[in-house]
Amino acid sequence: MRFDILTIFPDMFAALTRFGIVGQAVKGGKIEINVVNIRDFSDKPHFMTDDRPYGGGEGMVMKPEPIVRALQSIPKVPGNRKVILLTPQGQLLEQSLARSLGTLAQLILVCGRYEGVDERIRSRYVDMEVSIGDYILTGGEIPAMVIVDAVSRLVPGVLGSERSALEESFEDSLLEYPQYTRPPIFQGESVPSILLSGDHGKIRIWRRTQSLQKTLERRPDLLKRASLSEEDRAILEELKQRPSTSATTAGRSKSHDTNDLDGLA
Ligand code: SAM
Repeated sequence: MRFDILTIFPDMFAALTRFGIVGQAVKGGKIEINVVNIRDFSDKPHFMTDDRPYGGGEGMVMKPEPIVRALQSIPKVPGNRKVILLTPQGQLLEQSLARSLGTLAQLILVCGRYEGVDERIRSRYVDMEVSIGDYILTGGEIPAMVIVDAVSRLVPGVLGSERSALEESFEDSLLEYPQYTRPPIFQGESVPSILLSGDHGKIRIWRRTQSLQKTLERRPDLLKRASLSEEDRAILEELKQRPSTSATTAGRSKSHDTNDLDGLA
């Protein structure tokens, strides 16, 4: 899969392309990330990429011509592609959207700055507008990195194990169960004994119960769209009858009572 990113701050993307799983995917040729500097397509002698808004008002607006030229410079790869504008006014990025974007061959991401881009870019060149949340950032670069990260890890071969992507929070509209590693006892709190039992059947049911309970407590809205088995429904009915005992809820209240960051020193 190929990502083309239009920005006036191309250097910011080193944070994405040089580190971690995305960096390895670029090196291994599983994904391609092409960062295009919009300023390279601006006009001499001032190389301006923004101008004052018609009608007056605060701030600057990104000019349309350099963005169009930058878009036209991008080679088409075979397969489906979409041009996405990052904007707080767009469709909210969720795991289901990341998954559907991951089926495309090419994703072109336009990063706004200042008060955003001239409206005629949106109306004439953009297939989809995406927001990463109901807050305002100073530019579209971090949202573009969020999209590339969320989509790349779903591209076959990018994660070591395809299964781990499927077990994450949101994949089946449930939050993931709590995870533990060594040591078995940390600051007096033990790993749940079932995880040390070696009984894979019981571990599966414990994890599913924790996942259902966490979702019920923190994001009950997700349960409406989750695909639940008969077993899940029975577990949920039982959970609704009893007071909260999820591992994280128990761990959290305990750490508030007995722990502070000084304990880490
Ligand atoms: N004036 C715009 C508005 O009210 O909708 C906000 C402009 S914002 C300061 C500058 C740029 O940051 C936007 O053009 C967009 O590319 C990006 N941006 C800011 N917040 C965002 C968000 N939550 N999701 C996606 N992009 C965002």
